[in-house]
Amino acid sequence: MISSLVVWIVGDSIKGKEQTQKVRLYPRPVRISEDGGPPRYPVKEVLAKLRAFIFRGDGVECPCCGKTFSHFLFSPYYTARCPFCLSMERYRLLCKFLRDETDFGKREMRLLEVGPDWSFQEFCRDFEKVEYTSADLFSPLAMERIDIRNMDFESSSFDFIICYHVLEHIDDDMKALRELHRVLKPDGQAIIQVPIQVPQTVERDELGKKEQEEILKWPDHLRAYGPDFRERLENSGFDVRVIPFGKKFSPEEIERFGLSSEEDIYFCTKREAEAAKLP
Ligand SMILES: [Zn+2]
Repeated sequence: MISSLVVWIVGDSIKGKEQTQKVRLYPRPVRISEDGGPPRYPVKEVLAKLRAFIFRGDGVECPCCGKTFSHFLFSPYYTARCPFCLSMERYRLLCKFLRDETDFGKREMRLLEVGPDWSFQEFCRDFEKVEYTSADLFSPLAMERIDIRNMDFESSSFDFIICYHVLEHIDDDMKALRELHRVLKPDGQAIIQVPIQVPQTVERDELGKKEQEEILKWPDHLRAYGPDFRERLENSGFDVRVIPFGKKFSPEEIERFGLSSEEDIYFCTKREAEAAKLP
């Protein structure tokens, strides 16, 4: 049942270490909150159908929305977007992984997405057994306005957590990881990922100005992670499997599904005994 209609027309801030570095003005999406499910965005949905019609075809296939198109869209973020759900490469890889390699959606699960993405929200809507909640401090898509470093959720609340490319924006990422561990149920699963850009994780402050531009690229990235990101996850109490899922596909499949072959899946489960030792 439609309970409220919210129109957001003000801008958003880019928050970095200094907080409020600059203000970026763009229209907020028209949002209809629904009881018992994620919000709907009627304007986004109409535009999605229009784009899907324009780019109709069978050249590529989106694992998130399941539709086929003539080709993916180029975006200013150097990613190829699905014409319908606007998924990026890493979300298409995630959705394919969840569909092909896990029991996602086949059992009742309460899922938290931190830093929500519309394509993934809509992917979850297709699974009746998935109770989707999204949280973020700034994203206009978030259902709950929450600081990941201090979340207003009970401990052991969620069966599944998705946290994609969020931690590089958080000053105290270890605090955020401990919170993710806290709100995950003991038998829960989490996929927590960041861009892996350097051999060893380095903070923005430790880089010169030129390196900051070359490596970090985005002004709101506070650090560049290396493969030692795994140790941060483990030190937060997770058992971690790094799965090179994107590398199992042929070049033709990578092209067809528009996948990122470089991004591994960081599949985490909760390690209770170790977590108890955390400060
Ligand atoms: Zn799609």
